[in-house]
Amino acid sequence: MSGYNPTIPLFDLNYGQEEEEAMLRVLRSKWLTMGPETEALEIEFAEFCGVKHAIALSNCTTALHLANLAAGIKNDDEVICPSLSFVATSNSILYAGGKPVFADIKSLNDWTISPRDIERKISDRTKAIIVMHYGGFACDMDEIMRIAARHSLFVIEDAAHAPGATYKDKRLGALGDISCFSFFSNKNISTGEGGMICTNSDEYAQKIRLMRSHGMTSLTLDRHKGHAYSYDVVCLGYNYRIDEIHAALARVQLKKLYDGNNLRLKAAGIYKKGLSKIDQITIPFAGKADQTNYHIFPILLDKSVNRNDLMTYLRQNGIQTSIHYPPIHQFSFFKNFNFKHELPLTEYVGEHELTLPMYPGITGCQQDSVINFLLKYFKK
Ligand SMILES: *Cc1c(COP(=O)(O)O)cnc(C)c1O
Repeated sequence: MSGYNPTIPLFDLNYGQEEEEAMLRVLRSKWLTMGPETEALEIEFAEFCGVKHAIALSNCTTALHLANLAAGIKNDDEVICPSLSFVATSNSILYAGGKPVFADIKSLNDWTISPRDIERKISDRTKAIIVMHYGGFACDMDEIMRIAARHSLFVIEDAAHAPGATYKDKRLGALGDISCFSFFSNKNISTGEGGMICTNSDEYAQKIRLMRSHGMTSLTLDRHKGHAYSYDVVCLGYNYRIDEIHAALARVQLKKLYDGNNLRLKAAGIYKKGLSKIDQITIPFAGKADQTNYHIFPILLDKSVNRNDLMTYLRQNGIQTSIHYPPIHQFSFFKNFNFKHELPLTEYVGEHELTLPMYPGITGCQQDSVINFLLKYFKK
């Protein structure tokens, strides 16, 4: 990638002076991890999401790991999850000792996990379902929660794409048993690294707080404040803590989320209008009334289109694009497991999807440029 400096990047940070001030605030406080910023972030995020508990973590992958552990996943327990996702979704199941069982997406229009395929893949060993709200579009949660209740399955939301998006007036991340958010650089809340777990269960929250920090019963801050002198270790835990700089950045980014998501929605409208004239392009999630946050802007190319050629053409014209996602079950590492999966829709989307630049600060000019280069390419 050296020397490649696209004029229209796939993603750009929504950063300003507020972020710089937040960092300085932490540096000057000289308290660098698990302190007042983390505490405040957890309170603010829980309120924003409409859940009882929010627990800040080092990233969303560690959040997913702890969610699987809280769900009691172990010894080849089966967890049904999408293959059209980032590999962290299924890796987290393996960390806990479980076995990912991939379910297909609903249709070529709705790329979220299919409730019907979930039901088809339930076995005696199934313990949990991980759903992923692709691009901020809600999974069919009513149906999925009904299936989960019928089979006594735990539901984890991989809400990495979803901060601020809703489903029937509830926030994504407030619908399953546990949800996991990411604050990675290119997410709607960007801090570089960072993550959050949300849950309404006191029991899971307590377990997760312990596991976040080596199973220790008291934290440095409590001891510093004189609330405790020593600690016990009561379970196997990890160091999955967030630090104060990232927590402070997340607080600023959370405040900007609403406006940022609205700018994304506006940009999506411009793309939809501009691309409607191109027969070789379909825009997925048509007619999904739920409030998405347009974490990404995915399009589906016609079978006749050579995606690599198109990506090269756009790249040469300063436009960065990406693919969401190469299906997980097709990766070499996952082929080793010899799962038997029929995922025709996932494979089709994996082969023909293209992600266009999307971020709050994208300008009308930049979008016109993307649209015009696409129009020109398809006129050939
Ligand atoms: C980004 C992402 C993750 C992982 O998040 P990290 O914070 O980078 O660990 C997990 N799942 C999905 C769907 C993601 O997009």
